[in-house]
Amino acid sequence: MTPYDDTSSQGQPALVDGFGRTVTYLRVSVTDRCDLRCVYCMAEHMVFLPKAQVLTLEELDRIASAFVALGVRKLRITGGEPLVRKGVMGLFQNLGRHLKTGALDELTLTTNGTQLAAFAQALADLGVERINVSLDTLNPDLFRAITRGGDLARVIGGIDAAQTAGLRVKINAVALKDGNAAELPELIRWAHGRGLEVTLIETMPMGEVDVDRTDEYLSLTELRGDLESFWTLTDLDVTTGGPARYVEVKETGGRLGFITPLSHNFCEACNRVRLTCTGTLHTCLGREDACDLRAVIRGGASDADLVTAIRGAVDAKPKGHDFKIARSAGPAVARHMSTTGG
Ligand code: SAM
Ligand code: SF4
Repeated sequence: MTPYDDTSSQGQPALVDGFGRTVTYLRVSVTDRCDLRCVYCMAEHMVFLPKAQVLTLEELDRIASAFVALGVRKLRITGGEPLVRKGVMGLFQNLGRHLKTGALDELTLTTNGTQLAAFAQALADLGVERINVSLDTLNPDLFRAITRGGDLARVIGGIDAAQTAGLRVKINAVALKDGNAAELPELIRWAHGRGLEVTLIETMPMGEVDVDRTDEYLSLTELRGDLESFWTLTDLDVTTGGPARYVEVKETGGRLGFITPLSHNFCEACNRVRLTCTGTLHTCLGREDACDLRAVIRGGASDADLVTAIRGAVDAKPKGHDFKIARSAGPAVARHMSTTGG
């Protein structure tokens, strides 16, 4: 479906916001829990949500399926770490029915990779074709430091398993000035050598963490300049409706994306909304706007009521966000990325 279609595949009017943007992409966070504690994402001693506040797998399926019926063509399962959610493969299996009917183009996943060795084949069998794996460095000590205790070998083993299962893997790396900046060329070379795309992400001021993010903020414009001192980067004319811009690295033959969420240049083409693991719909990553779909469904709403609530929230999708990383200012958005789903 193109952004100009005005009906979903199921005959309902498409989900169009107040600025004429069609919503075709939903990210679903299935848990706020994680087996890692990345410094830019979580505090060391995170307090996780009581289970009763987190949507059940059936509730997640109901809400995600309502979006599919309204024309969402792509679902990304995220978290927290989605693969630590008990029973999550059942959710993949259920949502996979929309791939079979053709209502959904893509069911995908963002993961830290620690559990992939166990789940990669099952994901491929259930119709997942591509996944994003977050990996900030190939240095085991630095990996342990950034993730506060993670084992790099497990993640590499997970990526091996994913490739063996035939999944296309994209590496997401957060760029940290004093953390991993010096290691990124090696990570990119390694990934391109294995046929993997890489996307670099600027740190976003979301949720209280223990470090001062202004110290670690690295502008990707600056990083791109550094890479261009030894590589030839050619801009590619690809867009996903998201904040990524892509280049080809001539020397490695691979593709590199830059996600600069602090810039406004993607808001006008934004086609996505996010559902937290507690059932809150956020129509903009960088704003506090929210619609409590858990209250709607736990209040006994019919499917028609749910659709009305979703349409109302999408209609009010903000025109753009107002992220900024300012010294001494708190996070621009109080919720953590692990709750919202990156
Ligand atoms: N646990 C999974 C993972 O790490 O891939 C999925 C959830 S994680 C919140 C999704 C993505 O958000 C990861 O690529 C992570 O690096 C990124 N992320 C987390 N906190 C961030 C922040 N403050 N700024 C930018 N990216 C962030
Ligand atoms: Fe966990 Fe992903 Fe956040 Fe790291 S970025 S702490 S892996 S949710």
